[in-house]
Amino acid sequence: MPELPEVETTRRGIAPATTGRRVVSTVVREPRLRWPVPPDLDATLRGQRVGAVGRRAKYLLLHLEQGTLIIHLGMSGSLRVLPAGTPPLRHDHVDLVLDSGECVRFNDPRRFGSVHYTATDPLTHPLLRRLAPEPLDDTFDGRYLAATARGRSVAIKQFLMNGLVVVGVGNIYANEALFRAGIHPRRAAGRISRARFERLAIAIKEVLRDAIESGGTTLRDYVNAAGVPGYFRQQLYVYERAGQPCRLCLTPIRQISQGQRSTYYCPRCQR
Ligand SMILES: [Zn+2]
Repeated sequence: MPELPEVETTRRGIAPATTGRRVVSTVVREPRLRWPVPPDLDATLRGQRVGAVGRRAKYLLLHLEQGTLIIHLGMSGSLRVLPAGTPPLRHDHVDLVLDSGECVRFNDPRRFGSVHYTATDPLTHPLLRRLAPEPLDDTFDGRYLAATARGRSVAIKQFLMNGLVVVGVGNIYANEALFRAGIHPRRAAGRISRARFERLAIAIKEVLRDAIESGGTTLRDYVNAAGVPGYFRQQLYVYERAGQPCRLCLTPIRQISQGQRSTYYCPRCQR
């Protein structure tokens, strides 16, 4: 599933091809995505110049002269920049054809992704307006985490994966950040000190930035190649390493289940 770093990598990948270009046409081969593609999308976008490409949580925001195109990659979606005449493959649902002769092509086998248009501020869109803070924003810090966790007995791992607390910290990043911060994934969120929350906020930013940077190393392939997403490859400390020695202390990594998701941790490094 595309997580925040993959969406950010996608944003960086498509921006050079889209910013400043005009939309020649929009081709919708399959409107039945998680939400229906707006039927008047082609008429709405045609002739409009694309401005900056932004991101809020896992939503990509293609700012236009009038309004914003909002794209979510869902469980299996990806965007590629291709010559506009490239024959579509199965699951190539939407093309944004640009005056450069290229198109941005949305592929999504499972169709949990979506494409929306809003004429007003995208941050007030019903899907976006209640989203929790961005983990890479300066306002996301130990103080915010400590204040939000106060009095809560939920395990810190599940607390981090709650989209009402912070957006975009998926399972892999929650596992890795807790390891880096030395916090046991089952510890009650409300029983973690402010100092440890400071370390945790830094660890979350680090794992996400590392993932974005390594995503960037495969960006060329991502944009040019046929359908292989440039998902990140980074050194993992605990994720999917059950039974293998901790990279710091050699204690075997343990695996447990929390809220139907696998949790991996070092019983010695994480308290
Ligand atoms: Zn260890």
